[in-house]
Amino acid sequence: MSDFLRPFNLLLLPIVFIGVAIYSLPYSSLIPQQWDFFIPWLPLGISGFLFLIVGFFNFSRILFAGLVSLSVWTFLKLDFANPHYTQLALVLMSLNMLLIAFYRERGTYSITGLFRIAFIFCQPGILAVAYVFKANEFHQLINWPHIAIQDLTISIPALAIFSVCFIYLLVKLFIQTLLIDAYLLISLVFSAWLLIDPPASETQLSLLVSLNQLLLVMALFKRSLSMAYIDELTEIPGRRALNERMVKLGKNYTAAMLDIDFFKKFNDTHGHDVGDQVLRMVAQKIRQVKGGTAYRYGGEEFCILFPTTDTEMAEQALEEVRISVEQAKMKVRSKKRTKNNKKGRSSRGLGGAGAEVSVTISGGVATTRTKTSPLKAADIALYKAKEQGRNQICR
Ligand code: GH3
Ligand code: MG
Ligand code: MG
Repeated sequence: MSDFLRPFNLLLLPIVFIGVAIYSLPYSSLIPQQWDFFIPWLPLGISGFLFLIVGFFNFSRILFAGLVSLSVWTFLKLDFANPHYTQLALVLMSLNMLLIAFYRERGTYSITGLFRIAFIFCQPGILAVAYVFKANEFHQLINWPHIAIQDLTISIPALAIFSVCFIYLLVKLFIQTLLIDAYLLISLVFSAWLLIDPPASETQLSLLVSLNQLLLVMALFKRSLSMAYIDELTEIPGRRALNERMVKLGKNYTAAMLDIDFFKKFNDTHGHDVGDQVLRMVAQKIRQVKGGTAYRYGGEEFCILFPTTDTEMAEQALEEVRISVEQAKMKVRSKKRTKNNKKGRSSRGLGGAGAEVSVTISGGVATTRTKTSPLKAADIALYKAKEQGRNQICR
């Protein structure tokens, strides 16, 4: 999939779920009456579930987003009979989501994590206190100018802050394509919509908030799935994904093994950190292979599977990849910038800050038509490429 389409791919499933929910909302009256008791507690139940499992995944931001959604639910249930509070809640909700987007993972049950949880929880409480004590000056303060969009009214500050958060998350999603940003974005829009245009009944409200939270649970599982299948360093599928794909591919496919040339020497010269950066860059080049899927086989070795027995086509695609790796120059972002100028200057040519480095790859390719397994045959062809002088593809 092209890089441009990946954010859309992340957004697709939650949008489909929300679409189905909105479409079926009028049918919520058909829900059996026995369920009336437990549906209003559903958002609390899912929040509890998130509390229980989020620690295992070390993905506390999902819990925080779920708690913001729970706060929105609490706010709407408290039913403030003053529309200014809705606008304030919209501002707070947007700012919370923005903060969560900025948070670094610091654990759920750590001091920082608990402080963040308390920070989210106390906000509807503070609003309730302000409302109960009818702080008139405060009411004047949050009486912001409004604009009307169709039959909905929204205050200008709330619209501005929501838009900033929305645009920030959207741009971040398209630049970094992180799963968390997609789900924060969805949750932001979902909660804003609930605040501005709350559903007719409490049951519908609880169902929609539950859906918002369930989407966050889905993000949790999606992330753990990708942790199992995507290699962390190179961000391309790893060995487990390769093995499962091989089972599914059946009899007709072409396999290629690629290996970075003299990578041990490269590491010795430039250091392991620079080696890692180059490995990532090479993986990104290999990932763009036409007609095939790339996997990190292990170490500095990659495997590509083409669902075809057309070896010539595969060889052509591999040749393009080989050239693109050969031509790629990487500026070294060395963290070890030495303060000693003399030492800095002498180490620069060795891959210090600002130096350009590049590597080459060798590859072997084979199809299922060979006697041995294509992967083994591709490995033998790879050794042939190494023996013949490297930086080439053999079959
Ligand atoms: P050849 O051209 O024959 O492939 O030579 P080579 O040095 O690349 O081959 P060898 O298999 O002897 O060495 C592979 C090296 O790859 C060893 C290790 O230092 C390096 N390597 C493997 N995995 C990683 C990694 O994740 N990060 C870094 N930086 N280096 C790695
Ligand atoms: Mg190797
Ligand atoms: Mg090598």
